[in-house]
Amino acid sequence: MTRWSLLAVSVFAVPLSAQTRQPEIPVPSIIEYRPRSTLVVTEHPVPRPRFPVVDFHGHPPRLTSPEVVRQVVAQMDAIGIGVMVSANNNGGESLRQQLAAIEAAGQSHRFALFTGLDLRDVGPGSGARIAAQLEADVRAGARGVGEIGKGFGLTIRKADGSRLALDDPELDPVWRTAARLNIPVFIHTGDPAEFFEPLDYTNERWLEMALFPNRRFNDRAQYPTFDALMAERDRLLARHPETTWVLAHLGWHAQDLGRLGRILDRHPNVHAEIGAILYDLGRQPRAAHAFFVRYQDRLLFGKDSFRPEEYPYYWRVLETEDEYFDYYRDYHAFWKLYGMGLPDDVLRKLYQGNAARIIPGTPRRALQ
Ligand SMILES: [Zn+2]
Repeated sequence: MTRWSLLAVSVFAVPLSAQTRQPEIPVPSIIEYRPRSTLVVTEHPVPRPRFPVVDFHGHPPRLTSPEVVRQVVAQMDAIGIGVMVSANNNGGESLRQQLAAIEAAGQSHRFALFTGLDLRDVGPGSGARIAAQLEADVRAGARGVGEIGKGFGLTIRKADGSRLALDDPELDPVWRTAARLNIPVFIHTGDPAEFFEPLDYTNERWLEMALFPNRRFNDRAQYPTFDALMAERDRLLARHPETTWVLAHLGWHAQDLGRLGRILDRHPNVHAEIGAILYDLGRQPRAAHAFFVRYQDRLLFGKDSFRPEEYPYYWRVLETEDEYFDYYRDYHAFWKLYGMGLPDDVLRKLYQGNAARIIPGTPRRALQ
């Protein structure tokens, strides 16, 4: 061994906690330490996307009147959203009212409303009843189901008090109905894998879990493990190959794109949407670029919370090759982002083509 390699081994093999030298001044907390980057590189902010976008994971306010519709459209125009999916569980009367308000505002080409499912207290006969409600809502103008929230699989109970499993056969008629009606089912399962792990100082999401008690799913008496939950979801996907599934948040596999790739390979009926996981794409721009090129027909743009000022971070990560820039939500990630530099043909599919293909009757007018 040369002296250099000995030195390298000794420096990198010693964990921080074993170092003897201690700071001589008070140590900041995780909240206080906010270093300013001194990196000087060319920056390319992207206020508007390269092509008009379908936001598949939209949570606009309830579109209760033509005035509200026009306000939301003005915000969409400012950030380059051509079509907004409202994934707010709009069913029954609320669905009809919102569709009427959109129509009255002359903005039917700018929205697609998804309906919700009431999955509480499922028992014998529930599946057929929920399927009938779904069919009625689709007849009234809903163009998809969702977002089915993370409660399904984590907290929702059956009539008998047991946890409603994702692949419960009672719900088979619902997923078969969605397949027959040719509408997408947009489903959010679980949460980041770290939320299911012990809250210790090695947990990558320590701050977020410390801030939000309701994001801790690590009590094994109460919740399944992350992997058990995802296995349940994958059995659901396999059980209904005719149904078009869209996994919210890249199925919470954005930090393990190989795993998501295997799911997409195994299930040609599955797509995935990128809302609220930008921090994971932006820390692996080369791997994410390769993944997005490879699965360019299966990935959809989605943002989740409707905060217009946050969308440009997405355009910048997806479109540029910028380096080491800030993210907008520090409790998601304590690291900086890098651009993926996706080519135009991939961007166009991600931004609009794939969504337009799977949402029935997507108006093309707003996507030119
Ligand atoms: Zn959502």
